[in-house]
Amino acid sequence: MLRINQLKLLPGEPTEHLEKKICRILHLKPGTTFQWKMIRQSVDARKKPEIYMVYTVEVSGLNEKKILQHPPKNVTSVSEKAYRFSACGTMELKQRPVVIGSGPAGLFCTYLLAKYGYRPILLERGKDAKSRQKDVETFWKSGTLNPESNVQFGEGGAGTFSDGKLNTLVKDKLGRSKFVLETFVTHGAPERILYEAKPHIGTDILIPVITEIRRSIEKLGGEVLFQSKVTDFELKEKENRRILSAVIVNDTKRIPCDLAVLALGHSARDTFETLYRKQVPMEAKSFAVGVRAEHPQEMIDQAQYGRKRGTDLPSSPYKLTAQTKSGRGVYSFCMCPGGYVVNASSEPGRLAVNGMSYSGRDGENANSALIVTITPEDYGTDSPLDGMEFQRRLEEKAYELGQGKIPIQQYGDFCKNVKSTEFGEVKPQLKGEYSFANLRELFPDYLSDALMEAMETFEQKIHGFSRPDTLFSGVESRTSSPVKLPRNEECESPIEGLYPCGEGAGYAGGITSAAMDGMKVAEAIGRKYAPMTDSR
Ligand code: FAD
Repeated sequence: MLRINQLKLLPGEPTEHLEKKICRILHLKPGTTFQWKMIRQSVDARKKPEIYMVYTVEVSGLNEKKILQHPPKNVTSVSEKAYRFSACGTMELKQRPVVIGSGPAGLFCTYLLAKYGYRPILLERGKDAKSRQKDVETFWKSGTLNPESNVQFGEGGAGTFSDGKLNTLVKDKLGRSKFVLETFVTHGAPERILYEAKPHIGTDILIPVITEIRRSIEKLGGEVLFQSKVTDFELKEKENRRILSAVIVNDTKRIPCDLAVLALGHSARDTFETLYRKQVPMEAKSFAVGVRAEHPQEMIDQAQYGRKRGTDLPSSPYKLTAQTKSGRGVYSFCMCPGGYVVNASSEPGRLAVNGMSYSGRDGENANSALIVTITPEDYGTDSPLDGMEFQRRLEEKAYELGQGKIPIQQYGDFCKNVKSTEFGEVKPQLKGEYSFANLRELFPDYLSDALMEAMETFEQKIHGFSRPDTLFSGVESRTSSPVKLPRNEECESPIEGLYPCGEGAGYAGGITSAAMDGMKVAEAIGRKYAPMTDSR
């Protein structure tokens, strides 16, 4: 197969025009038949306002040897590498494998285990996506939180009510990321995610796709149990080894198991406490906290494209980083073009925000987390759970400041250290109620100072970024897990039978990387254990 890079079209130009370009580049005679597919599409706005859509395509059905005798510019030969799962393990599983958590990590781990005959049981503390959606909408309208069914907990995990960004920076020699995207497509996501450089599907598409993957798991012999919170872990001791023997669900039901995958996400604080009590090894780790910032999407488009977006270009994303004079890293994270700021709390009396969008990304505002790196030295560590307690204190303060609603402030007032009393031109796009506040009261001074210093750097990159009516909401505290659960090369914890996995265990950050880590853990299980042969 031939790969051609750097094919350019104008925004809005039909992609069929690529075919002519392929013929020209490969010097094909008129009427030559061949097959081609797009494998990457990105926006090149480096010479704005002159903007191009840049494509990579793969072409088959031609005499490659002949073409490659004098290879035209940007043309190479590639071979298709398909993802492979090997169920080559020989150890007998006495009990069905258990996966805890139906976020992307747990879902993809379960999907592979089910596909290859391991008959997994997936335990999820929250509700199925449809019931969960009702609880989340009630929360956003009335403020009544269901601590077991919310933006963090329930079918699909933390990313279900998200922007649905599916790009990842994780290196992928084995084709896992392609498999994740292909699995999304075979379960209802649009094909464009297979070639977009920054694929996203939005919460409206993600929800039905997740539900379809669960149905596939069930058809493949897996079992998915909602409202089934793992509340304890039974461990036995044998010759100085500590081995998992069962998990306890909802304090009542005992499920014996040889192995359990811990795909808990970063918000399962009660479960982290249980694991800590059980002396499951864990470490404190660095993470980042800050605010969610809102700007007019039109302003971001103007800065990125040098012109109005029109209908031929997508709402523009941005990515910003700064380093303060004191050496602290501040960066934008989980940017949602045309998105909404959401109340993403999961504990009563504590408030956290995040961002989401729909597939059209057509909201008025662009939002992103602006966050500052926090190390264990900043919050002081006696216990691995101290970072989690630091997050909790910030969230309690945010709840207090907003009287249970999202505390919000104009950036100009943040700099003046006063509570806002009105909005400027930027009006909030929120899911959940809000209340004016002074967010400076939320943070230690080093954190507020770092944010303000970084805003000046960001202004140099995007004109208007530090405008006084920029909106800040707080607190953005769930950007990654505050703990890491160590595991060996074969993904197993020092406690035999426990497989830490995904974002909560410190091995992923984002939907696709969490799904890839779920696959990696399933592969390790496949290397150790044989598929189940009976119908226990
Ligand atoms: P999670 O998705 O957190 O899943 C963990 C699951 O485990 C949860 O469903 C939880 O209910 C369950 N669970 C926890 N404890 C127990 C227990 N004891 N028993 C049973 N079940 C349990 N990432 C992106 O890449 N793109 C985005 O656009 C994006 N937007 C986001 C928007 C929002 C609002 C949020 C909150 C997150 C967003 N993220 C995004 C981050 C992304 O969602 C996470 O990185 C990803 O979901 C992590 O996957 P995971 O499977 O490791 O954990």
